[in-house]
Amino acid sequence: VHAAVAAGAGHRRRRVLLLPLPLQGHINPMFHLASVLHARGFAVTVFHLQPAGVNAPDASLHPAFDFVPVPADGDGDGAGGDYLEATLAGILDVNRRCEAPFRERLAALLEEAAPAGCGDVACLVADAHLLTLMDVARRLGVPTLALRTGSAASFRVFAAHRMLRDMGYLPARESELDAPVTVLPPAPYRVRDVMLTAGFGGHAQDQIYELVSRAVEAVRTSSGLILNTFDALEHDELAALRRDLDVPVFDVGPLHKLSPTAPPSSLLRQDRGCLEWLDSQAPASVLYVSFGSIASVSAGELVEAAWGIANSGHPFLWVLRPGLVRGAAAAAALPDGFDAATRGRGAVVSWAPQEEVLAHPATAAFWTHCGWNSTLESVCAGVPMLLRPCFGDQPGNARYAERVWRAGLALDGGGGELERGKVEAAIRRLMEEDDAAGMRRRAGELKSRAAECITKAGSSCLIIDKLGAARSRADA
Ligand code: UDP
Repeated sequence: VHAAVAAGAGHRRRRVLLLPLPLQGHINPMFHLASVLHARGFAVTVFHLQPAGVNAPDASLHPAFDFVPVPADGDGDGAGGDYLEATLAGILDVNRRCEAPFRERLAALLEEAAPAGCGDVACLVADAHLLTLMDVARRLGVPTLALRTGSAASFRVFAAHRMLRDMGYLPARESELDAPVTVLPPAPYRVRDVMLTAGFGGHAQDQIYELVSRAVEAVRTSSGLILNTFDALEHDELAALRRDLDVPVFDVGPLHKLSPTAPPSSLLRQDRGCLEWLDSQAPASVLYVSFGSIASVSAGELVEAAWGIANSGHPFLWVLRPGLVRGAAAAAALPDGFDAATRGRGAVVSWAPQEEVLAHPATAAFWTHCGWNSTLESVCAGVPMLLRPCFGDQPGNARYAERVWRAGLALDGGGGELERGKVEAAIRRLMEEDDAAGMRRRAGELKSRAAECITKAGSSCLIIDKLGAARSRADA
């Protein structure tokens, strides 16, 4: 298909429209997908939703793509609550407030593309959290594909959510958080790994249920589900999804490895100075610490984390992004005495070029909040993980990393408050002890498998070929 698309003179490139959810962990895989599709001969238009307070991706870094800004109508819900809850509310809000502006801009684009219909527009690939906007596209005659930016396993949990409630696993009772969930084999889940509401206040539960059921509906009503994962990593989960869903499933990951030259899609300025600092460190000596773009910690937990890191004695690179500490908008303050205790052996930045940090030979391990992008990036770099999930799908990702891939160590068994002694002990176990060698070896094996699946005959490349073919059949 891509050969036909790209075939020389007189052929206009067919166009793929992309609609990311404007959150860092959702934009990154969508832009990597955009680069993959562009390299295969498709023209790319990105609709960028612009609710207040969200940075837009820098269009000048992506001269090959067209950008259509979509402003949000009216006022936001003024969600209240903490940042996490505001993020949840923001997802529903962006669907509602961008519906009319998106319809208007998509209709204008279609008219320009071909007065008689969709013309050279192949389809819209939208984030699975944008059901309302996917409906708009379908009503205008544009086929849709849903990109879910989590793992296959976590989408399976989404799809099973109603069943888990009907069976009484959910809503989770405090006393049963460690009870096994046996209805999603072969995942070794406990109730705490599938509840999706960990980290959220009580009144966020309904919002989560709504988000999850909307994402499932978005997938079920689309022409296919695109997942940033790969067969060797999630074979059984993918097989189960293919059995349970009526739409085709395209596991095309790891997308960041398929588009290694893609320009960065970071919404925050990355501090590249830390790469030079890593250059000055011994091979496989540094603990990289980052909790992603949304997760937060209490001021007390920051102090415990800091002393755990300091007392471990290992070099570290720590991302302290603005807003990391709940209730403090500015950069997090490290405890008195921390600098003196760690002088010469640590670097702190507000945002890092994470993929490059993980690929750096000095990086030994990654203390992660287990967001799916971070988990996958770590897997692909062969870096073992210290797992400290915070919310949503993160506990399930951590469970897989620890129990199935055995390339990570759960901090404090996955629950409870951070405590400096436990942090120190876990870092030492991950960096020093026999377990560490095994985890590093298994992480290295995953890295090789990830590299295999993106070779020309690898599973993800073949699936990308299929993705193009699926579209051309639908057009026929
Ligand atoms: N990231 C980054 N610099 C940082 C921390 C994170 O570029 O200092 C990127 C990271 O590479 C990943 C994304 O931000 O692609 C975070 O996505 P993830 O799914 O791990 O977590 P989320 O932020 O959605 O919770």
